[in-house]
Amino acid sequence: MSQVISSTHKTGLSFEVFPPKKEDEFENVFTLLRGFKELNPDFISCTYGAGGSRAGKTIEIASFIQKELQIDAIAHITCVGFRKEDLARNCAALKEAGVNHVLALRGDRPQSMTDEQFNSREFFYASDLVHYLKEHTDLQISGACYPEKHFESPSLEEDLQHLKEKVEAGVTSLVTQMFFDNTYFYRFLDKIRGMGIHVPVHAGIMPITTAKQLGTTVSLSGSSVPKKLADIIATYGEDKDDMRKAGIDYAVNQIRDLKEHGVDGIHIYSMNKLKTTTEICSQI
Ligand code: FAD
Repeated sequence: MSQVISSTHKTGLSFEVFPPKKEDEFENVFTLLRGFKELNPDFISCTYGAGGSRAGKTIEIASFIQKELQIDAIAHITCVGFRKEDLARNCAALKEAGVNHVLALRGDRPQSMTDEQFNSREFFYASDLVHYLKEHTDLQISGACYPEKHFESPSLEEDLQHLKEKVEAGVTSLVTQMFFDNTYFYRFLDKIRGMGIHVPVHAGIMPITTAKQLGTTVSLSGSSVPKKLADIIATYGEDKDDMRKAGIDYAVNQIRDLKEHGVDGIHIYSMNKLKTTTEICSQI
């Protein structure tokens, strides 16, 4: 029997934002965040540029969320390619900025990293970062997980074994990679609960509002695209407004089903789009 069904459970809501690259867009992010506050999220997380580029921007945004908006902020941090000194500096900056919760990630190997640098890195996996943070900071630590397995892992079972190690190292909640077929999520949840992983899991939902997104964000994520979503793109992909509406409907249906199953939380990959996120939230 599925272990995920519980109709009495209150499902949390959270958003992910990213630091815009251009300086003029960066200023707009604060207005955007004020708009997100109106939607009453439990937390807002802010991504970290690949390889740690623009780390200061992540901290600035997370600090605004925490201190100005008084919403729990989660700053993403990665460790691949970092030395312990770099991390110590980052952790000190987080503390100074009043941010006390991080999403501890390994990160993807930067293209500029040589094989020698990669093979002799100080932090091999996110769990190494979690151990470091537990030892040197009092930060609250969340971690990433992959309902369809991480793309490097030979099998879901092996990936989940490493996920268990990461949680045991000190992760207190998980945020999933985006998925478009809830059955993968329910299967994943059943498996991890069966393995004794009981921390809250926030289900990552990416609204697909343009056909282009499938070619970029989604293909990088390794998440599978069900026929129903592929058909939507084939039918509406050329029409901007219809595609947007169909993509929102798809995300709303996914979320409604997850809520009916009593999941811990819905984490919307907002892509910094307030209007789309607001429309979704008004329907769920
Ligand atoms: P890990 O947990 O270290 O896992 C990586 C791989 O190593 C997996 O295949 C795992 O099975 C394997 N593994 C773990 N431990 C061991 C071990 N002891 N022995 C052998 N294999 C092992 N990237 C960014 O650059 N910035 C971001 O802000 C960002 N935010 C993200 C948010 C979410 C919710 C998610 C799901 C991903 C995010 N990413 C981000 C992408 C992430 O950095 C990549 O997916 C990266 O490839 C893996 O990171 P991880 O923390 O999941 O790695």
